Amino acid sequence: MSKLPLDRVLQSQGFGTRKWCRELIEDGDVAIGGETITDSRAVVETDGLEFSVYGEPWTYREHVYIALNKPAGYECSRKPSHHPGVLSLLPEQFALRDVQPVGRLDHDTTGLLLMSDDGAFIHAQSSPRRHIPKVYVASTHDPVTPQLVRQLMDGVKLHDEPAPLAAVVCDMLDTHRLMIVLEQGKYHQVKRMLAAAGNHCTTLCRIRIGQLGLDALGLAEGEWCYLEGKQLDLLA
Ligand code: URA
Repeated sequence: MSKLPLDRVLQSQGFGTRKWCRELIEDGDVAIGGETITDSRAVVETDGLEFSVYGEPWTYREHVYIALNKPAGYECSRKPSHHPGVLSLLPEQFALRDVQPVGRLDHDTTGLLLMSDDGAFIHAQSSPRRHIPKVYVASTHDPVTPQLVRQLMDGVKLHDEPAPLAAVVCDMLDTHRLMIVLEQGKYHQVKRMLAAAGNHCTTLCRIRIGQLGLDALGLAEGEWCYLEGKQLDLLA
């Protein structure tokens, strides 16, 4: 159980500075259980708190865990330079509460991207020691051959890596598509591994992280959802 003044609740949920949140409340823009609260210092129980701001319903969350079906053309960087950032696909409250992508997908890569404001979660998911499998579907310029699949499974040498990098699983899906499972998260890893094996990646989609599959989430490109309970367990 945890209690907080209402202005701090709003601030923690990304509605702005404490001063701004106070004004929102005092202007009558915040309601709890349908009742407008104008006392910005009213102390409320945060567990399971439902409130509305400008009539929009919100649920208090200490941290948020988000899955986004990332479209092409968005950068994962916090300061995007050439394309809009992935945060622009989420409600603006998330940027204000410091939600960030867990790892990176290239601007032209699509698929499952986790985002959170929980530093411990981000750290655990990004730790190379955890060997969390990530599953990608890559389209290739040249046909997929058994030799290509074998090379990717045996390991290919990238110029800035001391040891060859290998796929955990690699399956040919059709003449120009393969499914590849990696446990590392090196820069442009799939594209560079394909290039090192003599092919070229034309499109790339991440379809699974750990046991969490994009298909089970039912998200169209550009859509996001909160991850809770059992879905988070699939990432543990
Ligand atoms: N490998 C890549 O080459 N790009 C990504 O975005 C993810 C993995």
